[in-house]
Amino acid sequence: MWRTEWENTHDHKLKQQLIIYNSDDCRALSLVTKAVSKLCSEQSGKAIVFDSNFSDTETHGRSRRDFLLDDFQAINNAAYWDHQRDMVYVNSSRRLKTISKRQAISSQKVEPNRVIDPVAPNTCLRCGEKSFSKEKVGERTVYDLKFTKRGISRDVVKYVAREFHCKSCGESTKVYPSSWSNRKYGQGFVAYSIYHVIHLCLLQRTIARSINELFGFSISETTVHHIKSIAADFYTNTCEKIKERIVTGKLVHADETPIKLKGGNEGYVWVLTNMEEAFFFFTGNRSRG
Ligand SMILES: [Zn+2]
Repeated sequence: MWRTEWENTHDHKLKQQLIIYNSDDCRALSLVTKAVSKLCSEQSGKAIVFDSNFSDTETHGRSRRDFLLDDFQAINNAAYWDHQRDMVYVNSSRRLKTISKRQAISSQKVEPNRVIDPVAPNTCLRCGEKSFSKEKVGERTVYDLKFTKRGISRDVVKYVAREFHCKSCGESTKVYPSSWSNRKYGQGFVAYSIYHVIHLCLLQRTIARSINELFGFSISETTVHHIKSIAADFYTNTCEKIKERIVTGKLVHADETPIKLKGGNEGYVWVLTNMEEAFFFFTGNRSRG
């Protein structure tokens, strides 16, 4: 709360309050650590083992932990009671129950709202038979956003590929839906994400959060990063054509701006424009432009 207020106002008094609050926290933690260390060495004479020395399974697994002191067992049990108490709150409130259910659903896979499943051919090309048996040979789910005049909605489509076997001569035919895609994310989803990355300059994690909250997906910031490379691949050709039109045109404006890279190195972002289209590219130094 104070932190957000300080970020917005840069008020000196708030900064002081924050520093005092944080140093009090550190002092309290140091006191607790000292007290615990003292208790352990006085009562058991055993050396302290830090949490970082436990393997993941020991720390997070469900196996029973032997405590150095019996009192620690009691404290750990109390933490479990806290968890149980939270469950009571959730179960006794309709609103909390809905929120908890919604969170559980959002972490699961989003169910398709449409299934595209090909139908059998009218007749067998080999013998003219009209009845077939069918077999599923593949399926893909494409996560997309649909743009309409009224707004944007989630569109999750499951595509099924089938193999049809003629019941008379046994001839088999594989049929894929006409819009069968090898991509997990549809064009609408990619366009929506890239608009937020480039036009609105939003952080990947902010975009992921917004997409999840507005459309009920459960993507991570890594997904947004992945979508950026999908878009880069998709637009490579367009990009080359824009560059070609600019450099073969009658008018070219060029400019460069230095940028700081991770690790302290400098680089340059160049822009070429004919005042109608622009082409940006990156070089490690000025002369290579
Ligand atoms: Zn046939």
